[in-house]
Amino acid sequence: MDLILFGPPGAGKGTQAKVLQDERGLIQLSTGDMLRAAVAQGTELGKKSKAIMDRGDLVPDDLVIGIIAERLDKPDTARGVIFDGFPRTVAQAKALDTMLAGRGRKIDAVIELKVDDEAMVGRMESRVRENPGSVRADDNPETLRKRLGVYRQNTAPLLDFYRGQGKLVTVDGMAPIAEVSAAIKRIIGGLGKAS
Ligand code: ADP
Repeated sequence: MDLILFGPPGAGKGTQAKVLQDERGLIQLSTGDMLRAAVAQGTELGKKSKAIMDRGDLVPDDLVIGIIAERLDKPDTARGVIFDGFPRTVAQAKALDTMLAGRGRKIDAVIELKVDDEAMVGRMESRVRENPGSVRADDNPETLRKRLGVYRQNTAPLLDFYRGQGKLVTVDGMAPIAEVSAAIKRIIGGLGKAS
């Protein structure tokens, strides 16, 4: 089973991806985590990405598509993947469809965590307050607003793309973490039963 967790920065995609990874044995693929690892390791990809990420812009499509393609060739991803933070543009979504089709797979569902943008800024501010030691370079109110703007402009149009494919399901991302997990569980349980 291959799923996409979808939503603006701070919506809780990573939290829910980890729950699915632990409960269902799916592999979480977070392009944000992969890019941060590349920056930390000082690889060529990291050098190209660091400044772009720090200012809250999108890393070029060919680079992120490349890291996903490479990752999908590793055997541990064969049982299924939860994409977290990818795709973020229509070009990435089309490339993902092609990559999966080439491996005899497809996206089974796109789970949108629907949240209130302003609440996201508040959530991030308390995250920074509570974990001052582990703050990301792009976790400050100014860059978060930039990332929200990029989300609205480049990434939100994907909702229509996946609605058109009949794959979009929406859950209330403002609910407590356990309730969001339960809603996602119900969705996954229902996959393949209808249609
Ligand atoms: P968040 O969901 O909190 O915005 P991520 O960890 O998903 O954070 O991403 C952090 C940054 O990494 C993004 O602002 C962007 O610069 C880069 N990035 C991550 N995924 C992608 C992607 N699919 N396409 C382009 N850039 C990406």
